[in-house]
Amino acid sequence: MNAVLAELLTAIALTALATLAGWFATGEVGAKLMALGTVSFFFLRQLWLVLRLIHWARCPLGTPTPSASGAWGEVFDALHKRGRLSSAAREQATQELDRFRRAAEALPDGVMILDGHRAIEWMNLHAEACLGLKSSVDTGSRITHLLREPEFLEYLDSPDHRGQPLELQTQRNPGRSLQVQAAPFAAGRTLLLVRDVTQLQKLATMRRDFVANVSHELKTPLTVTLGFLETALDSLADTPPVEIANYLKTAVEQARRMQQLIDDLLTLSSLETDSPPPLEDPIDVAVLLAEIHQEVAALSNGRHRILLENTGPRGLLGSARELRSAFANLAGNAVRYTPDGGEISLGWSAERAGGGRFFVRDSGIGIAKQHLPRLTERFYRVDRGRSRDLGGTGLGLAIVKHVLERHQAALQIESEPGRGSRFSAVFPAHRVQS
Ligand code: ADP
Repeated sequence: MNAVLAELLTAIALTALATLAGWFATGEVGAKLMALGTVSFFFLRQLWLVLRLIHWARCPLGTPTPSASGAWGEVFDALHKRGRLSSAAREQATQELDRFRRAAEALPDGVMILDGHRAIEWMNLHAEACLGLKSSVDTGSRITHLLREPEFLEYLDSPDHRGQPLELQTQRNPGRSLQVQAAPFAAGRTLLLVRDVTQLQKLATMRRDFVANVSHELKTPLTVTLGFLETALDSLADTPPVEIANYLKTAVEQARRMQQLIDDLLTLSSLETDSPPPLEDPIDVAVLLAEIHQEVAALSNGRHRILLENTGPRGLLGSARELRSAFANLAGNAVRYTPDGGEISLGWSAERAGGGRFFVRDSGIGIAKQHLPRLTERFYRVDRGRSRDLGGTGLGLAIVKHVLERHQAALQIESEPGRGSRFSAVFPAHRVQS
């Protein structure tokens, strides 16, 4: 305000001085000309500065304001200050938006923003991957034109569903199960959250199958045990003791089967949940092989020819308890699935690339090719009845696989129906000692 007053007073004073000078020089006409000239000068200067202001206003953001003295100088300074403040605010807003976008990108779930017409305004990479879309192509398109599954269209149309997620399988990403949740957002917009739940659903199915399998495995021996015990109890008075003893013997066998199943389940569960890696005990392989040989001989009871082939390194590093149980499992299977008179070899050999191989070779019934990849699944058996009759639980190879994984070793199975099998545990070089 002071600057405007000063500028006005300067203009008046200069006009008065010019008029006076004109008066002294040439009289009245000169005074009038000088007054007119001075007023015009001031008017033209204002006009020129206004034009500079208009020109500046049309320049790109960030162009420095023109410089001028007096009141206009103050105007330009004030505009310059405002410009600086607003560009700082804009910079901050851009940074915040950028931070928000990066946070939304980092979310483990898909996020999509739809405008009032359900056109895609923005989506993160997870949303693209889950829904089989591409930001560069699909932004601006209506989601209802891209995902045409009726349940999805109905879900978007009914606001009552909005609180609940929708389970969706879309042709854009076949084989995946998605969970989609829509939430109303500012000014008619919708926030769409998308999560890939394929893995979770698989786990839930596995858990259900596992519980069903365990219940089923326990139910049969339990029913048999109960049946025999009840019969024995009901006919205690008029049944010969030999027959009662037979009933009790069968009941004990079935109880043992249940016990074996529970033992295997506990072993499997402790292998899965015991986080610390197995100890690195130095194991003398010759001693371990001899122990297993003895166990197998007892199990076979003279029905098979059992050979021992030890040409491998002297020692193995790992948990003696876990490895003994895994090797005994493989050897036990060879006894069970090799008919009487067959041959079983237990062996330990060096691997060409370093490391060692424990193997059990049998001349037994063998396994058809299509079963091989599934043998280590819990409760998977080629012949369920045969395995049960032989006292199998269907968990042996699952336990072996876990033990070997904990020792960075791999299970290899070669087999041919009717000709026999070779199960090998191959250990890496850092696990063997020469
Ligand atoms: P099980 O308790 O039934 O033996 P495993 O997990 O040890 O369970 O083995 C799974 C299945 O693999 C067995 O039911 C059997 O069909 C097959 N199998 C395992 N070892 C042998 C073998 N040496 N010869 C033939 N079949 C075998």
